[in-house]
Amino acid sequence: MLLFPTMLTELFNLQEQQPEARIMAGGTDLLVALRHGPQDGRTIICLERIDELRRIDELEDGSVSIGATATFSSIARNTLLKERYPLLTQAAATVGGPAIRNMASIGGNIVTASPAADSLPALYLLDALLELRSAAGSRAVAIAEFILGPRRTMLQPGEIISRIILPPANGWSIQRFEKVGRRKSLAIAVASLAAALRLAADGSVAEARFAWGSVGPTVLRCAEAEQALIGKPLTEENLNAAALLAQRAVQPIDDIRASADYRRSVAGNLLLRLVA
Ligand SMILES: Cc1cc2nc3c(=O)[nH]c(=O)nc-3n(C[C@H](O)[C@H](O)[C@H](O)COP(=O)(O)OP(=O)(O)OC[C@H]3O[C@@H](n4cnc5c(N)ncnc54)[C@H](O)[C@@H]3O)c2cc1C
Repeated sequence: MLLFPTMLTELFNLQEQQPEARIMAGGTDLLVALRHGPQDGRTIICLERIDELRRIDELEDGSVSIGATATFSSIARNTLLKERYPLLTQAAATVGGPAIRNMASIGGNIVTASPAADSLPALYLLDALLELRSAAGSRAVAIAEFILGPRRTMLQPGEIISRIILPPANGWSIQRFEKVGRRKSLAIAVASLAAALRLAADGSVAEARFAWGSVGPTVLRCAEAEQALIGKPLTEENLNAAALLAQRAVQPIDDIRASADYRRSVAGNLLLRLVA
């Protein structure tokens, strides 16, 4: 049975009445999982008609709130996000193809917690906070604490992600999302990189943040690679030195899409695209 609450109070009532029910946003992960798993007849509670879960708003302190059921299409074309956090809109635009982006939500991407999830490197890099709501109240958790490992999160029964809060953008001079897949569209990442750099007046790097996807059990940051660039111009030579440090830090695995060695070399090469 499919249920379509229109308000959060209604959703939490339904969850209390049917604690075993599943939550569904766009269904692009859940329906695939159900097709492969047992059809146990459990109720599915759909979030799509709860308007407040879809909104994208600027908050008073300059943060931006993204409702958990905002689709990747709506994120990719949102002008506020494009202006403040272009690396997130770039990442959103690479998810699946147009039909998937029209259904797939950012909240579903986070809860699935795939190492290859395209929104996660940007969200880690931007220090995103997740607002978790349940009948008992709400709590805020940093994205890096929420994801416990591949396909594991700290979401408790009866809880949903209601929104994602991005702190005010940090005056980044460059924000970029790069993804390498096995084909141009509908590609799951073999490796991906979210990068943000603040440049000083003389063009040297004042602050660097990098977050890689698909090269470890969760998103990977590499402080050594970030530090290696500070005070230096953004040249191919300096990026090469940072790339070597990154290649040592990543922990890729072999799978059907790519070998660990290939992923390691792509992880480093993605940094070089910053000057391409
Ligand atoms: C053909 C295809 C191509 C794809 N390509 C990509 C790609 O390029 N990049 C990529 O990252 N992913 C890709 N995906 C995976 C998928 O589209 C994304 O992970 C998507 O963001 C999932 O969102 P959804 O709204 O469809 O989630 P759903 O399938 O509705 O839900 C996924 C899980 O999250 C839970 N959930 C959903 N919303 C909430 C919430 N607000 N609170 C609590 N729990 C919630 C559900 O219970 C379920 O366990 C692809 C999938 C397909 C089928």
